[in-house]
Amino acid sequence: MIQAVNARRTRNDNISVACANCPASECGKENVVARVASARSGFNSSAEREIACKRCGNVFKVPEYALTIHRYPREQVDLEYGLDSLAWIE
Ligand SMILES: [Zn+2]
Repeated sequence: MIQAVNARRTRNDNISVACANCPASECGKENVVARVASARSGFNSSAEREIACKRCGNVFKVPEYALTIHRYPREQVDLEYGLDSLAWIE
């Protein structure tokens, strides 16, 4: 789970991202996988995304339909992942 405690919201500038939780026991970190168009609520595709956990380094695969969509402040996502390095899912 991304904590928003220190994210100062000077603008109402949330972005939509697709997330998956790390399956490793004792981790479970929510990893942002990709950015998505704001109107999306989910995916139908069973194409798998390979994800390297930001916390523990565990590499796991998640089908796109199992990703969850959240809205987080742009700055917060940028700090942790780098907006430029995040792929888009169309
Ligand atoms: Zn992990």
